[in-house]
Amino acid sequence: MRDRANLEEHLEAALRPGAVRARDSRGRKVPEDEPPYRGRYQRDRDRIIHSAPFRRLEYKTQVFVSVMEGDHYRNRLTHTLEVTQIARTAARALALNEDLVEALALAHDLGHGPFGHSGENALDEVMADYGGFNHNIQGLRIVDELEIRYPDFPGLNLSYETREGFSKNLDGAQRARHGFAAGESPPLEVQLVDHADSIAYDTHDIEDALVSGVMDEATARSMALWKETEDEVRAEHAVFATDHRLRWRATVRRMIRRLVSDLIAETERRLKAQGIDSLAKVRASDAELVGFSPELGKKKAAFEDFLEQNFYYNMKVRQHTALWQERLRELFAAYRADPSRLPENHHARIKAGVPLERAICDYVAGMTDRFAERQWNDFCGK
Ligand code: MG
Repeated sequence: MRDRANLEEHLEAALRPGAVRARDSRGRKVPEDEPPYRGRYQRDRDRIIHSAPFRRLEYKTQVFVSVMEGDHYRNRLTHTLEVTQIARTAARALALNEDLVEALALAHDLGHGPFGHSGENALDEVMADYGGFNHNIQGLRIVDELEIRYPDFPGLNLSYETREGFSKNLDGAQRARHGFAAGESPPLEVQLVDHADSIAYDTHDIEDALVSGVMDEATARSMALWKETEDEVRAEHAVFATDHRLRWRATVRRMIRRLVSDLIAETERRLKAQGIDSLAKVRASDAELVGFSPELGKKKAAFEDFLEQNFYYNMKVRQHTALWQERLRELFAAYRADPSRLPENHHARIKAGVPLERAICDYVAGMTDRFAERQWNDFCGK
């Protein structure tokens, strides 16, 4: 049997010089003995999967509000699983730390509230005078403080490098507050998961947009990235001319392959060009080391702008999101007017000095769509 040290050494011997290795980890906030047969990042992954916020991802909106639109579309959990498989594939091809990438990808959306981006907007609005709401910082709060499962520390006590997944877009003061070294770039694994996230949502959102009928195919074909890929697919099999479902699915698959292949090749090229041969060089580099080629990157950015205008802001999607944005504001106000409606553990937090608004925000942000709906019906429904 391989013990942990042996296992990590075996797995990590094959990694590229700029990858993260468990032996170089900056460790956990509260030091712990590591288990005998699981690597450090495997353990982080397991802690994430066994957490309640991870399970609740199943009932949180990605784009479509499932309680109103049906069960065929992506939710945060299925999105998370798609991100994870894309990220692991690319990590293995690039000889990056696949265990770390898996943990990062599984955790990347833990901080999202109910009802997708409208939920985030609503919470940010009501928290404007109390520090605001941001899903990355909320993710950190969950894994560092809110999830209570262990007697010796709050949160999941994840490794520094796994926590770094939430460090994107934090300014210097925020980095310092959350225990991250100032002026450093995150490891390649963190950068990779970010791109895997965008590959997953670009491709699954266009599929959901088409299948739901929110967007028609002619509109999708006005985007170069979709049109080129679809034309390629049509040329390959006669059935794609007549069966639009098969055609869309094949096009989505092809788009993922195209984006992932390009990401791997371009990242490999950049790492060579920049002479990245250690994790220290990754952390010291200001350059975007993981990314798409200029040509495909441009098409992908145009595709995202287009989705923004024609899908996320589409009336049918917006009607529901605007409704829930308003209802979450009402729900927040209902708890504020009568804090006894909060569950017991939040009373204890408030007594311990957590401001009322932050406690309400943490509670509401943790809700699934359907639980928030029930609470709204109980407290605000007419
Ligand atoms: Mg995501």
